Amino acid sequence: MAVPAVKAKKMLEELLETCDANLYKVDKEIIIKAFQLSSEAHKDHFRVSGEPYFTHPFEVAMIVAREIPLDDISVVAALLHDVVEDTDYTLDFIEKEFSPEVAEIVDGVTKISGVFRGRDINQAENYRKLLLSMVKDVRVMLVKFADRLHNMRTLDAMPIEKQRRIAKETLEIYAPFAHRFGLGRVKWELEDLAFKYLNRQAYEDLARKIKEKRREREAYINRFKQPIIESLNKYGLKYEITGRPKHLYSIYRKMIKRNTTFEGIYDLLAIRIILEEDNPHQCFFVLGIVNELYKPIPDRFKDYISIPKKNNYQSLHTTVVGPDGKLVEVQIRTRKMHEIAEKGVAAHWRYKEENFTKDRDIEEWVNWIREIFEGSNKDEATQELLASFRLNLYQDEIYVFTPAGDLRRLPINSTPVDFAFEIHTKVGYHCIGAKVNGKIVPLNTPLKSGDRVEILTSKNQHPNPSWLRFVQTHKAKTNIRRYINKAEEQRAKEGKEIWEKTIKKLKLSFNQDDVQRLANKLKFDNAKRFFIAIAQGEVDLNKILNPEVIEPEENKVEIEFDKFARIARQDAGGILVEGEHKGIIYKFAKCCNPIPGDPIIGFITVGEGIKIHRRNCKNLIALAENHEDRLVPVSWPKTEGSFFVAGIKIKGEDKPGILQSISNSITNYRNTNIKSVNISSHDSYFEGTVTVYVSDLEHLNRLIERLKKSPGIFHAERFNQ
Ligand code: MN
Repeated sequence: MAVPAVKAKKMLEELLETCDANLYKVDKEIIIKAFQLSSEAHKDHFRVSGEPYFTHPFEVAMIVAREIPLDDISVVAALLHDVVEDTDYTLDFIEKEFSPEVAEIVDGVTKISGVFRGRDINQAENYRKLLLSMVKDVRVMLVKFADRLHNMRTLDAMPIEKQRRIAKETLEIYAPFAHRFGLGRVKWELEDLAFKYLNRQAYEDLARKIKEKRREREAYINRFKQPIIESLNKYGLKYEITGRPKHLYSIYRKMIKRNTTFEGIYDLLAIRIILEEDNPHQCFFVLGIVNELYKPIPDRFKDYISIPKKNNYQSLHTTVVGPDGKLVEVQIRTRKMHEIAEKGVAAHWRYKEENFTKDRDIEEWVNWIREIFEGSNKDEATQELLASFRLNLYQDEIYVFTPAGDLRRLPINSTPVDFAFEIHTKVGYHCIGAKVNGKIVPLNTPLKSGDRVEILTSKNQHPNPSWLRFVQTHKAKTNIRRYINKAEEQRAKEGKEIWEKTIKKLKLSFNQDDVQRLANKLKFDNAKRFFIAIAQGEVDLNKILNPEVIEPEENKVEIEFDKFARIARQDAGGILVEGEHKGIIYKFAKCCNPIPGDPIIGFITVGEGIKIHRRNCKNLIALAENHEDRLVPVSWPKTEGSFFVAGIKIKGEDKPGILQSISNSITNYRNTNIKSVNISSHDSYFEGTVTVYVSDLEHLNRLIERLKKSPGIFHAERFNQ
């Protein structure tokens, strides 16, 4: 059932009047439009009390306009605050019909309402931060306070369990929050209402006692304030003087804190003097008047005008000895200070706007807001913050829930993997997937404030290096790296074992430098990477350890040398074995591989005839130590005019005419004959061998000396094993 038309008309008039009276400027059109949309949207809904539902958004709008007056947009958002959640109208619709600003506030209020649903409040401070992290616009909080205030005022209709839950949430989250916003009056009322539902016995007891003493107290206060009034009038000051309102919850808390009874709380006697003129000096003047009339208690004096409280509260507090020796607290402040104390942010803003804001004032205001929440000055977007009422506090953090309802704070853009490591390293190590608000999501999904996150784990899952690309927390990064490093160490160890087994089998030997060189050659950063690749089967060791791959050039040289040696020996016509061993078959020893021209000696073996060694062969020297009797003198056949074939290895610069230059150097010396030249060039240099006919080693050495001196040749040596 909708609100009857006649009544609705009256309600709208009342709202517009209230706005006019309290707001700096009012766009009536937009308020009327919001009023009509809200009443239409909620027309079929009822509150638990049975009233038309629309009475709720209407009252919330009234609270905003009357008690937390900020601007007309806040009033519009208050009217619409339950429309999106409870009816078929969408946020897009609101944005189109009104503005993105209005839609954002409505969305914010809806979201923070959902945060507490079905949750036990056990980390109040984190919840407050969670709310702030979700709130971008200060007006979201103002509308939410108004919403909560109206719900608390009408909490009677709710079932008892719900009353307690909402009251607890109000006391632990919203009241301290309202205090931080400087909303003194909202805070007191929320606290007293919550107190009533949480501890009805104590509440009623206290309320009764205060009522009983009221007459007595009022008579005393009247007696106390009479001389003050006379004096203020004498000086022609404009003022209001009131008894201080009694907040049951604060009395109750004091009783508990001081472990005393109701009667023991002396500052129940209190008055407040509010000076209409915006002139702080007057407060000190009035303080002088009061202190002249009544004797002040020195250590109870507080000057919050010179040094305001963090939430910008300003006032003078003095406690004096009144008639009959009773203590009375006197608060002295200007009207503006009072408004700010009661209405906080809203009043502050209104005062600023009326005075049309000097820049210094704006900065002060922003600093104040910032200090309320952070106690630090960290951002610089002052103007923007103010222009759009943006809070932007805790926007670099998110607050998410565990399945058990615990809150965890994470940096913005954190993912389920960050969350998993936040829960426990083991959970992080084995997380395989995540459910966010009941839906399975990829592990790199950024989380949002208010998300409920459940981590799925598997014993076989392990941290993946790709996680490092999206995790945000230091904890996750460190643990993933640590795991990867450990896994790599293990892998490298396995790879090294395989390597060592293989080279042992192939009877090869490698020192550390050799391994390093081989790894570099195969394009690994270091030996560790090489071993990891082996363990992962990415390297075929048999192929790598094939000698041709390890030192292909040297190997080629060896084969070439063998070939060369065979030809040279044939050319020389074999060797001569003297004496009794003449005619016995002979072979050239592999260890020293003698070639014509080398001083040689034979060694009689068992079963393999005579082995021909170089005279300086280490093997031969060792053998001869015990078996000198087996040595046989041998020689290369040497006749007049006969020559040996010898090889010369050369390297040099590859330039035109170099081959001619080499052959000239050789043939010009003693008419030396060249048997063959085998040269290949790489880039700008060449290398190769030249085989020549020499008469003896001296002949060969001379040739080499000449070649070394030739232009363009870097290197020349006997082709040797
Ligand atoms: Mn509501």
